[in-house]
Amino acid sequence: MEAKTKELWVFIETNGDGTAKNVGLELLTPGKAMAAKQGGALTAVVIGHHTDAAITAAAQHGADKVIVVDGPEYEHYTTDAYAIALCTLVEQYGPTSMLIGATNNGRDLGPRVACRLKTGLTADCTALDIDEESGNVAWTRPAFGGNLMATILCPDHRPQIGTVRPGVFKKSAPVALRAEIIREKLHVPAEQIRTQLLKVIQEVAGALVDLESAEIIVSGGRGVGGPEGFEPIQALAKVLGATVGASRAAVDSGWIPHSHQVGQTGKTVGPKLYIACGISGAIQHLAGMSSSDVIVAINKDPDAPIFDIADYGVVGDLFQILPALTNEIKKARGQGCDN
Ligand code: FAD
Repeated sequence: MEAKTKELWVFIETNGDGTAKNVGLELLTPGKAMAAKQGGALTAVVIGHHTDAAITAAAQHGADKVIVVDGPEYEHYTTDAYAIALCTLVEQYGPTSMLIGATNNGRDLGPRVACRLKTGLTADCTALDIDEESGNVAWTRPAFGGNLMATILCPDHRPQIGTVRPGVFKKSAPVALRAEIIREKLHVPAEQIRTQLLKVIQEVAGALVDLESAEIIVSGGRGVGGPEGFEPIQALAKVLGATVGASRAAVDSGWIPHSHQVGQTGKTVGPKLYIACGISGAIQHLAGMSSSDVIVAINKDPDAPIFDIADYGVVGDLFQILPALTNEIKKARGQGCDN
């Protein structure tokens, strides 16, 4: 289809309670700069039920406009209801490009919508820009096992659509509301929704690993040597109030579940502090954590590539360094130390 406007859309995925998932708000940050380069407005599209909090959040994080579709059929994600609603909006308004968070739902919705609209989709982008020469979105994503980054343009079809992993971009600081809010009465009849949600089962405590919104992450790699090697990692994480991450080598060895994996085939994270312990710094690991604000690496090999991107490096045995560090932090906080 032809674009009718130069607007850039960001899909704001909502939780069951109508609040916005972080990734949509994060995408408003690159969206703002891209929309300015495209010469159009930045529009947030909120679909859900009881969405007031999500609308406010989208407006506070930079959207010029918020298009809202609210109804009970959108309380929990279904492919049919969301794809019908989003395609209808795109056909009506004709944006030139659209960003979708690469969550489980976003990865389901994006290709479905792209296919119905007969346009392309670049999945799992790690960088976004506008190509100066053509004015198309320049979607960058890892290719060939992460060994090179490919930049993809979609010159012929509109809208240009891409999914972006949570944690790649950071939310802007909230500002006062000034967005135009447009409410669309768009209801999808029950017979058009082919799946039925029978029950929502909460993840059991402990199995939930929220690396993407963690402010501090302590990660262990093959250097921890076994499942018990994660004990000093967990001890440090506990005193810091941090979440435990891992390299794929540690996950593949069965020392820690995949939900802890950071990297190209794991989570993309952007904490304030990332402490990498016994992790060499393979490009596929860096793809998931290099945008952390401060990176500390602990590795006994002074030539480990992780030191190339670390802000602080400690060359030594993690089994000596981590307990010492944990004890110092406990002492500083007046919590008493282990020896
Ligand atoms: P290693 O590379 O073996 O490094 C272990 C490090 O520990 C070494 O630097 C060593 O000096 C240090 N060490 C050992 N003992 C100690 C000690 N006692 N104290 C301190 N340091 C010590 N990897 C990911 O992490 N995430 C991904 O999402 C991911 N996706 C991938 C996708 C594809 C398609 C491919 C091909 C690979 C992927 N990988 C991923 C794997 C990646 O290439 C590396 O193999 C992996 O990251 C290595 O993990 P590591 O650093 O823990 O292990």
